[in-house]
Amino acid sequence: MGKDWDKNGDLYDIIIIGGGPAGLTAGIYSARAKMKTLLLEKMMVGGQAAITETIENYPGFPEGIAGPELTERMREQAAKFGVDFFDAEVKKIRDQAFETGRGFAVSTDQEEYSALALIAATGAQPSSLGIPGEKRLTGKGVSYCATCDGPFFRDQDIVVAGGGDTAVEEALFLTKFGKKVSLVHRRDRLRATKILQERASANPKIEFVWDSVLTEVMGDNNVEGVKVKNVKTEKEREIAAKGVFVFVGIVPNTEFLKDLVEMDESGYIITDENMQTRQEGIFACGDARKKLLRQVVTACGEGATAAFSAQHYIEELKGIAYK
Ligand code: NAP
Repeated sequence: MGKDWDKNGDLYDIIIIGGGPAGLTAGIYSARAKMKTLLLEKMMVGGQAAITETIENYPGFPEGIAGPELTERMREQAAKFGVDFFDAEVKKIRDQAFETGRGFAVSTDQEEYSALALIAATGAQPSSLGIPGEKRLTGKGVSYCATCDGPFFRDQDIVVAGGGDTAVEEALFLTKFGKKVSLVHRRDRLRATKILQERASANPKIEFVWDSVLTEVMGDNNVEGVKVKNVKTEKEREIAAKGVFVFVGIVPNTEFLKDLVEMDESGYIITDENMQTRQEGIFACGDARKKLLRQVVTACGEGATAAFSAQHYIEELKGIAYK
């Protein structure tokens, strides 16, 4: 089978950065291809999907499946096939020439790791609004995670900002706890998928506040309410609430890659259809990638493709490609 590429035993074939559905699926495919694989995750395996109460559009689960359960199953599957997991935050990536002539050194907040190829599956995090009171009252009524914080607002009034899938899905979830959920959206119709729109319209606990944006979160030590401005009339009013949930889009976690791979103006990584970035040996998949549709199922498909591409790249490097 050719040379011993890893004389010290600590060189990985593939390091996957990020443990959401894209990274975990890449791990399953990479380990099954007998690539020595390490998955680095800075927070918790599962990513954003793991804080989603129910995922009902992942095929094979007609009743839906809880996000934590689905992602835990993916993690178990990756571990079963031999993926190594470490909790570490990647800080920097350097080119490093191994015997193959190519490779990468990955510095983390803990150790440094080396690999012949990298798969960036770092996902995205919720955007903030950047309005007065938002930062100061985060954790004191302002939240970006309904699954985590919804139960704190039992029988309280809640405000949700945003009109996409996340805002509407989470507003529906929050109706289990809140007395009333005011959904504040800057347009007069929702961006979210039609089925979610229908459910929200039919839910008596949801009140739509159209054409409006939050301008301030009010409260001294805890949230007491929000100021809301109608963007058409410019009129401002206050809505009393104990919880303010912000779901106004996402920001990709790609800062540490900015000198290495090509990105669009928002920081999403640009790849070809094989998940290859402009940097040879670095592949990308999942929500951090520039693409049309961000779903668990698309993340998984891209993770599989990224791992397959990385495998072929490594086998070419090692001179063992099956042609
Ligand atoms: P999104 O689709 O980008 O929607 C963000 C929403 O926030 C939009 O309605 C946008 O308004 C609004 N917004 C953005 N900036 C704002 C600001 N400064 N002030 C007020 N409103 C603002 O983001 P997302 O809902 O977080 O979803 C992210 C991705 O994950 C999407 O691709 C989504 O489809 C996917 N996702 C899918 C599911 C599912 O399939 N069940 C669940 C969750 C997320 P405009 O509409 O005017 O732009």
